[in-house]
Amino acid sequence: MTQTPSPLSNLQSPYKCLNCGRLQPLAFTGWKCPVCGGLLGLADAPVFDPARVDARAPGVWRYRHTFPLPPDLEPLSLGEGGTPLLAVTFQQRTVFFKHEGQNPTGSFKDRGMAVLFAVLKHVGVRAALEDSSGNAGAAFAGYAARAGIAARVLVPASASGPKRRQIEAYGAELVAIEGTRAQVAEAARAEAESGGVYGSHVFNPLGLAGNATCAFEIFERLGRAPEAVLLPVGHGTLLLGLHRGFKALYAAGHIERLPKLIGVQAMPCAPLWAVHTYGREGLGWVTEGQTVAEGIRVLNPARGDFVMSAVSESGGALLAVEEETILPGRDALARLGFYVEPTCGVVWAALPKVLANTSGDVVVILTGTGLKSAL
Ligand SMILES: [Zn+2]
Repeated sequence: MTQTPSPLSNLQSPYKCLNCGRLQPLAFTGWKCPVCGGLLGLADAPVFDPARVDARAPGVWRYRHTFPLPPDLEPLSLGEGGTPLLAVTFQQRTVFFKHEGQNPTGSFKDRGMAVLFAVLKHVGVRAALEDSSGNAGAAFAGYAARAGIAARVLVPASASGPKRRQIEAYGAELVAIEGTRAQVAEAARAEAESGGVYGSHVFNPLGLAGNATCAFEIFERLGRAPEAVLLPVGHGTLLLGLHRGFKALYAAGHIERLPKLIGVQAMPCAPLWAVHTYGREGLGWVTEGQTVAEGIRVLNPARGDFVMSAVSESGGALLAVEEETILPGRDALARLGFYVEPTCGVVWAALPKVLANTSGDVVVILTGTGLKSAL
């Protein structure tokens, strides 16, 4: 396979502690800075060069030159990315929907997992663990199967049946944990502390480079930057990936401004919206309440501060919608031909507000398929 060398500088040390700034090598398999315990980010600034897009490469490896990886690393793909961007007329406006549910395991998470598992395989990891309420666990298990890496996936006992079955079908060991989503994440970190390789879609930043490809596809399809991109947010890893991608396009002079990133949460669990709206005091009354939007039911988003600054740098916003609007929103999207998971239903009540405050192109990202939902 033809491999395009990356123009990036830290190919052997892609991880950078966001607290103390120390770099970690590609072979590093911890989930946080070994010196100060800080969160890891990517060392290199994002790049994009249309001349280096490789149309023959599989899946997101089309944008391999934007990944901070050495040229001898073998791509790993299930054909992720390349999802359609479809125009719909809504309230006398053209709205573009990007259906990430059409990815191989059914959600946008495949973009990041393709990059993460290529690296885990490259550095010789034999077994890895993840915690996920569903989609990330399914993507993790699917790409682990493709890589020949043993997967262990911790999920809340309440996670929906079809997602659990999908994870097990890929051959992963599924561990159901009683308790909240936050307690499941805690259990995974405890396992990682005792030596497990934690291939977390939240703590490992490599997935953000994969998620950035979503921005490149929007740009290539529209031939310009949209005014706003609307999407559900829980941990915010897709929003951060989009920010990375659009920053690369901006830095290279392909777009004149960053699209406004608008994250939507469900009111019963909306910590990012609370901080955006009320400041730090807003966190005081945020709960992990019950919601059908289980994919974004995240009380403590680990990269929350970075999500807030990405939204603010883009001139965007964080919105929260009432629980009663979510399933009707899912149904309304289905009437347009988009069969999405209940989590995606949050965008529907938010869309009129976004249209009222914009005049240019609006892209709505539908993060996962409806085929896994029992609701
Ligand atoms: Zn550090």
